[in-house]
Amino acid sequence: MSGEELLRRHAADGGRLAASAAQGLGSVPALHTVVVTCMDTRIDVLGLFGLAVGEVHTLRNAGGVVTDDVVRSVTISQRKLGTREVLVVQHTRCGLASFTDAEFSEELAQDAGMLPPWRIGTFADPAVDVGRGMARLRRDPFVLPDTVIRGFVLDIEDFSLREIHPD
Ligand SMILES: [Zn+2]
Repeated sequence: MSGEELLRRHAADGGRLAASAAQGLGSVPALHTVVVTCMDTRIDVLGLFGLAVGEVHTLRNAGGVVTDDVVRSVTISQRKLGTREVLVVQHTRCGLASFTDAEFSEELAQDAGMLPPWRIGTFADPAVDVGRGMARLRRDPFVLPDTVIRGFVLDIEDFSLREIHPD
């Protein structure tokens, strides 16, 4: 099983390397920044921004969508760990743009006999969804009002970033 493979690699060297990378670091992100992005396996957040362990908080989910749980984590990150900027990074050719909420909800209902209680969060255009996520963060009562919120669409082919300026 693949979980076993992960544990084998942890025992082989992973645990030691991770401990070494985290040595001397506190839990406060040195660059006081949160990156929200997709769980897509091709995106290496540290590599993409030339970061080291300990410099940012990374929040990932399917799509890089600003969900209730992203807002929860950003709030804790700001209030307890001092972050002040958020980068929302969604990407081209995302799986979340390849089906709709209605289609996937129906598929799940056919299989499980009930609709999921959560929103699937699909989108047709990542640029539009990034803008909506930024608006959601900006209007949230618990996110600090002076937070610098920036949004981008990452080109999954050449890894260039296009900044999104909603309105
Ligand atoms: Zn994606």
